[in-house]
Amino acid sequence: MTKPSKLTFVGGKPVLVPYDQVERTDNDQAYNQARDANQTKYIKFYHSALWAHKREAIKQRDLELCQRCGMELELVDHIVPSKDDWEDRLNDDNLQGLCNACHRLKTKREWIKHHKGANRYMTITVVCGLPSSGKTTYVRKHQTKHDLIYDYDSLMQSLTGLPSHSKNFDVHDYIILFFEQMLRKLKSEQTFDNVWIIQTYPDERIDSLLSPYHHVNHILIDVDKQTCIDRLNNDKRLNSSLISVFNEFETKNFTNFKRVTE
Ligand SMILES: [Zn+2]
Repeated sequence: MTKPSKLTFVGGKPVLVPYDQVERTDNDQAYNQARDANQTKYIKFYHSALWAHKREAIKQRDLELCQRCGMELELVDHIVPSKDDWEDRLNDDNLQGLCNACHRLKTKREWIKHHKGANRYMTITVVCGLPSSGKTTYVRKHQTKHDLIYDYDSLMQSLTGLPSHSKNFDVHDYIILFFEQMLRKLKSEQTFDNVWIIQTYPDERIDSLLSPYHHVNHILIDVDKQTCIDRLNNDKRLNSSLISVFNEFETKNFTNFKRVTE
C-alpha cells in the first residue's frame, strides 16, 4: 500500500509530500519571524521598569480595588489590549486595576468577539446638523440591526432629565469621558455593523482617534436655519441656549462632509 501524501507549497510551488513529512514553507518562516519579533517587544515591555512603575501608580490610583467588582485588585489590565493598541500601552486612561476573575471574563469576551467579528466590516458615520434638522431620523432610517448609536443630545437628556438641547456642564464631562473610552475601544473592534455618532458639530478628535483604524464617513443634514427654528418653535422647544448653538454652528467647517437633505 502506498503511503498517504499531502499537498504543500515549497518555494511557491505545490508539491505532494509524504503525509508525515514536516515542510517549513516560506509562509511559516515569515510568520514565525514576525511572531518572534513581536513577542520580544511584549516581553521586554512587561519586564521593563517603566511598566513596573506605571503598574504601581495605577494600583494606587484605583485604591487597590478591582474596577469592575470592587474586590481586591490583583493585576493592572490594558482596557484595549496592547497588541491592538501599542501606542496607548502607558496611557493612564487605557489602564485599569482588575481582580483575576474579572480579568478572565474580560479576556474570554475579547476572544469571542475577536473570532466572531473576524468577518465583519464596521462603518463609522458621524452625523452632524442643526438642532431639529433630523439627525436622529436619518440614522433611524439607515441603521441596521446590530448598530451602536452614540447620540450626544439623547444621552444628555437621559442623564439629566432636562428638556432636549439643554446642557449641564458637569454631566457634559461625564458624557465626554464615555465618548473617549468608546472611541478607544472602537479602535480595536469590529463588533458592530455600523457606529453612528450623532452630534451638532464636527469633532476633530473623532478623526484623529479613529482614522488610522477605520474609514469614517461624514454626513451633514443640510436643512436651513429657518426651517429648524420653525420646527423648534412649533414644538415649543426653542430656548436661549439653542440660539447660541445656532450661532456657533455657523462658525464650523463642514468641507469634508457629504450634504444630505432629509
Ligand atoms: Zn473583579
